[in-house]
Amino acid sequence: MISSCSEPAVVPVEFPIQMPVLVAALSFCLFILTGGCAASFAQDARPKEKANLLLSGGTVLTMDAQNRLIDDGAVVIRGDTIVAVGRRADLESRYQAVRRIDARGKLVMPGLINGHTHATMSLFRGIADDVNLQDWLTKFIFPAEAKNVTENFVSAGTQLGVLEMIHGGTTTYVDMYYFEDAVARATKAAGMRGVLGETMLDFPAPDNKSVAAALSYTETFLKHWKGDPLIRAAVAPHAIYTASEATLRAASGLARRYQAPIVIHVAETKKEADDSRAKNHASPVVYLDRIGLLGPDVIAAHCIWIDATDIAVLAKKNVGCVHNPSSNMMLASGVAPVGAMLAAHVPVGLGTDGPAGSNNDLDMMEEIDLAAKLQKITRMDPQALGAQKVVEMATSLGARAIHMEKEIGSLEPGKKADVIVLDLDAPHAVPLYNFYSQIAYALKASDVRSVVIGGRIVMENRRVLTLDEPAIVANARSYRTQVQKSLSPPGH
Ligand SMILES: [Zn+2]
Repeated sequence: MISSCSEPAVVPVEFPIQMPVLVAALSFCLFILTGGCAASFAQDARPKEKANLLLSGGTVLTMDAQNRLIDDGAVVIRGDTIVAVGRRADLESRYQAVRRIDARGKLVMPGLINGHTHATMSLFRGIADDVNLQDWLTKFIFPAEAKNVTENFVSAGTQLGVLEMIHGGTTTYVDMYYFEDAVARATKAAGMRGVLGETMLDFPAPDNKSVAAALSYTETFLKHWKGDPLIRAAVAPHAIYTASEATLRAASGLARRYQAPIVIHVAETKKEADDSRAKNHASPVVYLDRIGLLGPDVIAAHCIWIDATDIAVLAKKNVGCVHNPSSNMMLASGVAPVGAMLAAHVPVGLGTDGPAGSNNDLDMMEEIDLAAKLQKITRMDPQALGAQKVVEMATSLGARAIHMEKEIGSLEPGKKADVIVLDLDAPHAVPLYNFYSQIAYALKASDVRSVVIGGRIVMENRRVLTLDEPAIVANARSYRTQVQKSLSPPGH
């Protein structure tokens, strides 16, 4: 800019121009040099704003209210928060970042939200498949849990689960299990975000042998994690068929005293719905509403066996629902009426459910794909659930389903910096015509290259920086013999 302003000054020397014109030209340039150009210079030389991390280049899929897609974009992060999202050239001229991730040729999008799982159960992966939910729970999982689940087991299982989730681009997950304080510690150590619910049921659990003990444990757990930037402690009454009305009321009462979320399985099987109608003279949803459990702090997993009345109640009470297509198919539980829920403005997210017997992995890219296809085949309509909507269910809509839409789910200033970078070079990733379609139906968890959670790089170039991957995998393998033995009848 300075050189272009100087150029007219030499022009009169080379060309015969009348004196007044020359004076005017010189005056103009003097004005520009002392005023205009100085101002421009000041602007260019203005110190750049400081930032911690700059994700630079690539296509930024914001998942914001306008679903903006920014070609050759950038995301600027300060502390644990996004401060700017926009064009790379603009943001690079305005910000000076300590660290930088080169995302040229890649896809930059919000981290995925796994709205329902039991991460520890990674250590039970494959112990009992191809059975129904009731048999799976009562004949295999509950006995295996009684014999194996200790605080160390929970730590090891959570580490394995979190490691797998980070590899697949999940940045926030909702968990319900036992020894949830150990889950929280392992999650925090991994640098991952979690809504973590201590499970409560009427029979003795691996950690707490009575409801009173579970309530006391949970209260301590809620107090301990209050205000943590990554961990949101929750209360998780297991389901209406494992927790009595008194337990459900006590659990929701405790959650509300501490403004903690409530995580619960709702209307997962036909049996649960039929039994509720027989016993409570109401559907699971209407029953839960009647006892005061439903509200804008509830994260309800499954919501399969629900009717129009139930959907209206869920919408009115601002309950978030989490759809788990792999689990629902594997356990043949049924198909959630996702379209009807979305039409009624019930926020519906996506989850993997536990990685044992009901999935068996924690791959959210797979759930995005299956969620769309399950609705299509069930309704014999390829438009029943589209690519963009399922990507929303794993990000912006998923954040609403777990009541964290103010913090996460999209890339925009003020939101937590939970960002993933995906490669677009694999054979299954080219050519690319539509980003939503590519994410929903073509890209894999293995395409996730780098993961940032709360502004911290937790995976870079597929290497997880916060966890000792070989040690975690070896430790998980070492549990196999113990778990196998616990399943065998005595004498075998
Ligand atoms: Zn579950």
